[in-house]
Amino acid sequence: MKRLQLHHWILIGMALGAGVGLPLNVLGADGTVDPGLVTWVAHAGEQLGRLFLRLLQMIVVPLIFSSLVTGVTGLGHPRELGRMGARTFGYYVGTSLLAITVGILMVDLIRPDTDIALDALQPESDAAAVPDVVQGESSLAQILWDQLTSMIPTNPFEATAEGDMLPIIFFALMFGLFITFTGDAHARVLTRFFEAVFAVMMKMTVFVIWLAPIGVFGFMLYAAAGSGLEAFVALGWYMLTVLAALAVHAFVTLPVLLFVLARRSPWEYAQAMWPALLTAFSTASSNATLPLTMTSVEERAGVSNRVSSFVLPLGATVNMDGTALYEAVAVLFIAQAYGADLSVAQQVVVALTALLASIGAAGIPHAGTVMMVVVLEAVGLPATAVGLILAVDRVLDMCRTSVNVWSDSTAAAVVGRFAGPDASVQAEGGQAEGGQDTAG
Ligand code: ASP
Repeated sequence: MKRLQLHHWILIGMALGAGVGLPLNVLGADGTVDPGLVTWVAHAGEQLGRLFLRLLQMIVVPLIFSSLVTGVTGLGHPRELGRMGARTFGYYVGTSLLAITVGILMVDLIRPDTDIALDALQPESDAAAVPDVVQGESSLAQILWDQLTSMIPTNPFEATAEGDMLPIIFFALMFGLFITFTGDAHARVLTRFFEAVFAVMMKMTVFVIWLAPIGVFGFMLYAAAGSGLEAFVALGWYMLTVLAALAVHAFVTLPVLLFVLARRSPWEYAQAMWPALLTAFSTASSNATLPLTMTSVEERAGVSNRVSSFVLPLGATVNMDGTALYEAVAVLFIAQAYGADLSVAQQVVVALTALLASIGAAGIPHAGTVMMVVVLEAVGLPATAVGLILAVDRVLDMCRTSVNVWSDSTAAAVVGRFAGPDASVQAEGGQAEGGQDTAG
């Protein structure tokens, strides 16, 4: 019999979690099973998932630090870093805007039924709170400005201790660059040291991700057993709109970009990324998935470390196509629920604030929903309106996080193609060969 690969085990974990959790949820709702027991099982699943999440979180900081330093020292010339940075940002902003456009078009097309949601979930409908699109904009600007300035850590050790991604990335890039500038014996010592740390962290990652099926089982159990099914019915149209738009972005837009810009087969690339995409789905955290994204991109898809070490940690923090799309759809849905028909100009404002909110959101569960409060306030809607969509947020979070990680991964392939020789070391045959390391 063919040996099962890691992503098969992850799928089995997910199926088992959902297979146990969903019936329990239904039986708990109609009283056949004690609802207390269902809550207990959901809680146990969450705890199991959290153990896995903690292991992933444990490796993220040393992994990305050593990876970024070795990536930058391997670049050769700082100019190369500048070029790569410009391409990466261009791709990230471009794909996020495409995602948002698809989301807005989908809302206009489907016009999700807000009445059922309003009846079922009864938000505080407040006629006076109908949008005034410019209100409160400064708070979003303030948040982004704060984020921009806090990219420079006043104390790199504090940032490392806190697991603050952007300041860590900034300092690691500077450190790598100055190793190159210093040259000579010191540079050799440090380069070799960080290469060694990176090798150890990659090994540790490969070990931890073997536990993914168990962690994923726990999270699926939690999501399936713990969610109230009535909310899914009430918010069916809204969910359908978000999911349809996410599907268009994941199955059409990004594969076309991957094919045209990176000259990669989208199907083969997606297969190489399976472990990361499935883990993103179950953990709902791009940050926690980062170790898997990096190993999949490097070892299974054959993109070089000097590209992935730069593109992926940055992507996990600032590039969230799925989140951007979701923010736009949700805000438009809420606006409709409150009886406000947004003009095209207002929709453009929603699009831009959604983009900024997605950049500002951290790669952790529900971060997008927290940022949503800011977008709502920016368009003059009451923050409490978030309550309307909260009930189904976990499931949508799982889906949008997979799209976020998928977008980061395609960026690595696209930037890798333009980063010159060595950067995409096994563009043709890397997957089959490297796949054995992590998945085999
Ligand atoms: N959970 C998402 C992520 O980690 C962020 C979000 O809440 O949209 O990518």
